[in-house]
Amino acid sequence: MAQPQSIQLSPARAFWRWLAPVGRRLFGTLARVDTTEPVVALTFDDGPHPVYTPQLLDLLAQYQARATFFLLGRHAAGQRDLVARMAAAGHAIGNHTFTHIRMPQTPRWQRWRELWLARRALAPFGSALFRPPYGGQSYGSRLDALLFGYEVVGWSCHIEDWVAQPADRLAERLLAQIQPGSIVLLHDRLANPRDPAAADRGPLIEALTIAFDHLHATYRFVTVPELIRTGTPVRVPWFRPAL
Ligand SMILES: [Zn+2]
Repeated sequence: MAQPQSIQLSPARAFWRWLAPVGRRLFGTLARVDTTEPVVALTFDDGPHPVYTPQLLDLLAQYQARATFFLLGRHAAGQRDLVARMAAAGHAIGNHTFTHIRMPQTPRWQRWRELWLARRALAPFGSALFRPPYGGQSYGSRLDALLFGYEVVGWSCHIEDWVAQPADRLAERLLAQIQPGSIVLLHDRLANPRDPAAADRGPLIEALTIAFDHLHATYRFVTVPELIRTGTPVRVPWFRPAL
């Protein structure tokens, strides 16, 4: 019996099949990467910090690890040398707004101003990456990121490092969650610490030292753009109010 050579798609189905990846690329948010390679992207928000960020850069260099920093324009503006040092070490630098606004709750003209001012403060080191503060995003703010040409980067795991915790607890949580293709949300500075004790980033830096000791022989720590190149980016609909 003759077999059909191919299954014919209706024009509407063919259109949706074509649109889905494009739609995900344009309106999705990168959460992780499907990969078989042992690679992880550590991401650090809200910096740079004059004390903790240099310590972190030293630690990353010691383990030949690269990371992605989502900087606040207002913090980057006064620390140009530190931002240049990050870029020279091969880390990726992304936009995290100028003053750490809640995107969905902010009028459009002010969102544009925040994105623009931060982009200017990060130039010429900024890349086409954006992370909305508090992970808050509406359809409108996602569209703004698209208009500015940004890939929006979320995360696949975090260790609640905005709450004060001992270093071994932070390390334990990190080691329990990391897997190939993870994007980890961390902070080398807290823009608005709810818990004043958590502003001390010492325990996090100590936790990262423990984690690197455990993982550096098996995992490679890469930037988000490098991570994307190792597999299939998983972009998800990420629309939720800022926490
Ligand atoms: Zn933030």
